[in-house]
Amino acid sequence: MDIEKEVKYLSKKERRQIPRQHMPELAPEIRNKCFDEVTLGYSLHEAQLEAARCIQCKDPQCIIGCPVSINIPAFLEQIVAEDLDGAINTVWDKTALPAVCGRVCPQEMQCEAVCVVGLKKGREPVGIGNLEMFIADWARDSGVENIVEIPASTGKKVAVVGSGPAGITVAGDLAKKGHEVVMYEALHKAGGVLLYGIPEFRLAKDIVDYELEALEALGVKIECNNVIGRTIDIDELLEEMGFDAVFIGVGAGLPNFLNIPGEDLSGVFSANEYLTRANLMKAFAFPKYDTPIIPGRNVVILGAGNVAMDSARTALRLGAKTVTVVYRRTKPEVPARHIELHHAEQEGVKFKFLTSPIEFIGDANGKLVGINCQKMELGEADEGGRRRPIAIEGKHEYIDCDLAIISIGTSANPLLTNTTDGLKLNQWGNIEADKKTGKTTKKGVWAGGDITLGQATVILAMGMGRDAADSIDEYLSK
Ligand SMILES: Cc1cc2nc3c(=O)[nH]c(=O)nc-3n(C[C@H](O)[C@H](O)[C@H](O)COP(=O)(O)OP(=O)(O)OC[C@H]3O[C@@H](n4cnc5c(N)ncnc54)[C@H](O)[C@@H]3O)c2cc1C
Ligand code: SF4
Repeated sequence: MDIEKEVKYLSKKERRQIPRQHMPELAPEIRNKCFDEVTLGYSLHEAQLEAARCIQCKDPQCIIGCPVSINIPAFLEQIVAEDLDGAINTVWDKTALPAVCGRVCPQEMQCEAVCVVGLKKGREPVGIGNLEMFIADWARDSGVENIVEIPASTGKKVAVVGSGPAGITVAGDLAKKGHEVVMYEALHKAGGVLLYGIPEFRLAKDIVDYELEALEALGVKIECNNVIGRTIDIDELLEEMGFDAVFIGVGAGLPNFLNIPGEDLSGVFSANEYLTRANLMKAFAFPKYDTPIIPGRNVVILGAGNVAMDSARTALRLGAKTVTVVYRRTKPEVPARHIELHHAEQEGVKFKFLTSPIEFIGDANGKLVGINCQKMELGEADEGGRRRPIAIEGKHEYIDCDLAIISIGTSANPLLTNTTDGLKLNQWGNIEADKKTGKTTKKGVWAGGDITLGQATVILAMGMGRDAADSIDEYLSK
């Protein structure tokens, strides 16, 4: 391949020889001591090389694999041609949060999983996520704005409850259609899990702030410190405050617990609380922020999903000597994204597989000193195809630790649903909403994101937000 040639002039044959351009990253021994972003971003040349690996399929499977149907081959070819304005506009056409999605979406299970280039033996798929991050960062750094002509006001008002990716998408889409939108958020800052859950080193918070400023520029009013269901309820929004429709996107932020002895000891945290203290309340920036957090010397994380990896890597950065993830299955069953597991291992997180906690042990002052665990083995596959962990009778292990972080998933918080009549819930307390429109059983009320799906992903929450916004707009136009 003639590397002196500008990428846009490479022949098809030369383009096929380009190896995947791996995303430059901060070295593990540096990044595990600070909260700086791990991924450093592509240069323009690297981005063009990576984008040039796309063979511009006639029937692009990647678009089908993308939950919001971004025209992926089009924006990749625009990057190759150095038409960066065109590329970002192609992306913005389908997603309002490309800088977020480029960083946190599980592309390896979506667009990249079906990329034709990656289906060939020995070839890796086109780095679509990395390129989405590149183009979004380029637009932010260059001050290029997503300019939308907002039509004259329709005179209709919509309340959006919750300011995570689902709420942000609904609010943005409806504001662009000329509706007045007020977004209510329980916490003192908007952004949902993007702000309080996903750590700074994976998603810098100024990116989330930037996206929220863009939302406000569209005319969306953001009202923080408003717990809907307590300060105001849904019927009051509809009947007394003049809203014509309500979208509920309150997430699934209620942590699940293990329900084993000793869970109330000092030093046992839910991942939700631990990460909120670290991210939203910026405990890592002590003494600038005085949020208390137990740094932990020997930290154990219980569970092995993305949230567990975030907790483990946060604990390392807060100064833990050892961080061990305890998981009852084996490495191949780890539910975290492969890249998160890989980064955690690189940074020094240890793993104890086939191990399940049965009791937290405290000292005379009620402080955690260790965990008694049951050793497990894998049995038959369950309905989901994963092999079931089975206790090995009489085989136990004690693990010394002064901080344990429980990360075994979250459920729907019943606060809002308990105070709203007419909303049908499923057996887990999630709101039942039409799969295509997000319409709930209550007139004038839509729902989407984790409150309907259970804990899912950013892009699925956004996709549902988009569908709900279309349906709300249709309802308001009648
Ligand atoms: C630590 C962590 C890491 C994750 N990592 C990834 C990842 O890498 N990739 C990925 O795709 N997904 C990831 N997820 C999942 C993803 O973040 C969620 O699926 C997504 O944020 C759901 O969006 P949402 O809008 O439905 O809700 P949320 O983002 O949960 O936002 C809901 C908002 O509603 C507010 N709210 C709740 N109740 C009320 C009320 N009564 N009144 C007003 N406001 C209320 C909450 O405070 C919150 O701000 C992660 C989740 C966590 C917790
Ligand atoms: S499937 Fe892969 S190669 Fe084909 S158009 Fe999409 S990104 Fe390009």
